[in-house]
Amino acid sequence: MPTPNPRHPNFPIPGGNEVRARGWRQEALLRLLENVLSVGEDPENLVVYAALGKAARNWASHEAIVHALKTMDDDHTLVIQSGKPIGLLKTHAKAPLVIMANCNIVGQWAKAEVFYELERKGLICWGGLTAGAWQYIGSQGVIQGTYEIFMRIAANRFGGDLAGRFILTAGLGGMGGAQPLAGRMAGAAILCVDIDPERARKRKEIGYLEEVAPDLDTALAMIETAVSEKRATSIGLVGNAAEIYPEIARRGITPDIVTDQTSAHDLVYGYVPLGYALDEVRALRQTNPAELMAASRASIVEHVKAMLEFQRRGAEVFDNGNLIRTQAKEGGVENAFDIRIFTEAYLRPLFARAVGPFRWMASSGDPEDIRKIDDKLLEMFPDNQIVTNWIRLAREHVPFEGLPARIAWLGHGERTELALAVNEMVRSGELAGPVTFSRDHLDAGAMAHPNIMTERMKDGSDAIADWPILDAMLLCSSMADLVVVHSGGGGYAGYMTSAGVTVVADGTDEGAERLAHSLTNDTSLGVMRYADAGYAESFDEIARKGIGHIALA
Ligand code: NAD
Repeated sequence: MPTPNPRHPNFPIPGGNEVRARGWRQEALLRLLENVLSVGEDPENLVVYAALGKAARNWASHEAIVHALKTMDDDHTLVIQSGKPIGLLKTHAKAPLVIMANCNIVGQWAKAEVFYELERKGLICWGGLTAGAWQYIGSQGVIQGTYEIFMRIAANRFGGDLAGRFILTAGLGGMGGAQPLAGRMAGAAILCVDIDPERARKRKEIGYLEEVAPDLDTALAMIETAVSEKRATSIGLVGNAAEIYPEIARRGITPDIVTDQTSAHDLVYGYVPLGYALDEVRALRQTNPAELMAASRASIVEHVKAMLEFQRRGAEVFDNGNLIRTQAKEGGVENAFDIRIFTEAYLRPLFARAVGPFRWMASSGDPEDIRKIDDKLLEMFPDNQIVTNWIRLAREHVPFEGLPARIAWLGHGERTELALAVNEMVRSGELAGPVTFSRDHLDAGAMAHPNIMTERMKDGSDAIADWPILDAMLLCSSMADLVVVHSGGGGYAGYMTSAGVTVVADGTDEGAERLAHSLTNDTSLGVMRYADAGYAESFDEIARKGIGHIALA
């Protein structure tokens, strides 16, 4: 039985043991599609997150996808182009059930303006990273990633502890809304600015924000008290970051850590420029996008100049993957890239070993399934501190949204081991239903994104998109259930390409085969990608784990 969804009553959370499709593989994928809408920001418009990241092109496409998933046999493959189903073809039972290509535009044309035009004509839609591939698990994924970044900064700069530290950030949207919880879990006092009072209200309602301050003076006083008491807290403030950041700098206050997660990647549908009311911005999106683009860029220039000023005074400042530096540089801030990207600054040694954001969802909708897998994970990897620490914290602080799910940063071999153990738990009936495994697209072999994932690679291979394309082909060859190639849309057009994968642990021998091949080969490619770029950690991993890398003489 689906569970009622108070946040979006028309989009119940899937679950139960009724199989509406011809098998659990198809049913599990259908539940993922239902799930991304149930946890999405604006499901009535099929938007999951990041202003334009959609689960399907339009409602007609959505209905046709649902129909295909419900009626397709095991030996067919559903072909989806930018959220629109194109065909249902006879393949074979070991082939993927669904393959997708979302928002891939030929190089010279891959620009925001072209994307908007194609979108207006209904020819394309952007899948974000996990929205279009139905892999989004709500805020948990980004909570874990943000928490991991904060803890790496704690280890690098603050003696392993963020108690008594002030984090300044902005953006309380679909992804950015995770920041206050991640900051509080890391022990800091975090101030989160958002221009939209509705977003702040929502984050307070679900307990991610402790308080929403009525004005900047009050917000800073609350932070100051928490810092002096070394008390973790999360405070929201409604305002424009392009005004608030410079004002905090002007007052001579320097936070310990500064970042930003407004939708700066999208100057039309995302970022809200200074001096414009929200309603005005919504209207201008239709009537004068060029004015909005110019105004957003001008505001981002002020926003980033303040971030650079904080950095000059000694704050730890980083770009959290929203292209804010890129927009500022185009607006004339020559040194915008003095701010480092989080991947290169904190996470690259993990990615070089293909340790990354792996996750799983309980198709049954039963939270007990995830708890049992948590226990299994702790039993299997007791010495993996990143994992054990996270599971303990997530159990305490992170409520389930939509289908119960868990993320954990696991690497080569570990992912396969866990998935096979879970497949056995499904087979034995220990779990109430099948479990779907996927990962973020921000993963070692899966993403080329020269301003985020692959910035300043050792060998300069930042912009080469062969890797995600190879990854997707390898995953099709490895019997994954769903495989996708995404490129950037909106402001990300021309900035990235990534591959996504989902495999269903349905408790069968075939399921075990699919999991073993897909998950092992996915991380093998990830380690090899970093070895190819010259990372020592990758060569070590290849030697230790016997990965089939070909090293040229
Ligand atoms: P979203 O559109 O759901 O939310 C963006 C928020 O920013 C909104 O609440 C909006 O009101 C607010 N905002 C816009 N302009 C503002 C301004 N000038 N001042 C204050 N607030 C402003 O987007 P999201 O899903 O939360 O994602 C945010 C950004 O982070 C996107 O660019 C997304 O692509 C990026 N992102 C990166 C990673 C990563 O690589 N680490 C992960 C997730 C999201």
